[in-house]
Amino acid sequence: MRALVLSDIHGNLHALEAVLEAAGEFDQLWNLGDVVGYGANPNEVLDRVRAVATLHVRGNHDRVCSGLTSTHGFNPVAAEAASWTQRKLTVANLEWLREMPKGPIRATPRAQCAHGSPLHEDHYIVSMRDAWTPLQRMESEITFFGHTHVQGGFSQHQQDWEEVRPQYRETDTAEAWVLDVPLGTRHLLNPGSVGQPRDGDWRAGYAMYDDDLARVTFYRIPYDLAAAQGAIRAAHLPDRLASRLAAGR
Ligand code: ZN
Repeated sequence: MRALVLSDIHGNLHALEAVLEAAGEFDQLWNLGDVVGYGANPNEVLDRVRAVATLHVRGNHDRVCSGLTSTHGFNPVAAEAASWTQRKLTVANLEWLREMPKGPIRATPRAQCAHGSPLHEDHYIVSMRDAWTPLQRMESEITFFGHTHVQGGFSQHQQDWEEVRPQYRETDTAEAWVLDVPLGTRHLLNPGSVGQPRDGDWRAGYAMYDDDLARVTFYRIPYDLAAAQGAIRAAHLPDRLASRLAAGR
């Protein structure tokens, strides 16, 4: 079984379309949340994701953009984008967002999906210090998570642990990086952000999990950046949301 794992699409239709085209064949699609917020095409992205994903976990932007929670705690740019998104969303998409389930959600006997930490949906897992307790306590060997917009994660085998940081050589072509996840090892893995990367690489991030091969392949692929930026500017969203896409920050 091959699962395409996507997170933090954030209304970036151009990045999402590029990822779906590059991903090729898969059996399942796991959506780790923050489908909307920041990007200029929330309805188009939702229509596409709703049609193809087989598992969904809500993100904090999905809650705020659908009015389930307030913009409290959001910076001014994120809050403005959330209000804009809420005004643009169709009634059907608003209702669907409000019904998105909270993580973690079990996807296979070995793997589950969360937006933030498997112990709390809004917690950020940035460092090994953040990862250690969830790695011990999570109820599956592998948790796919998002929220940080940083591709990679943390792995543990008994007393040994290591940070997972995909190594790439290029900056503007498609690349892949393979991580073996043998039975008996534990992993917290972030596929990266499709639509708003913040790890210094502007390319869309995603991952493919193959549970027969016990392998996760991370990808970075270029997409039509200028079109995504143009859509943000045409929508009169804060310019920072367009400019940061080029830097992946
Ligand atoms: Zn996000």
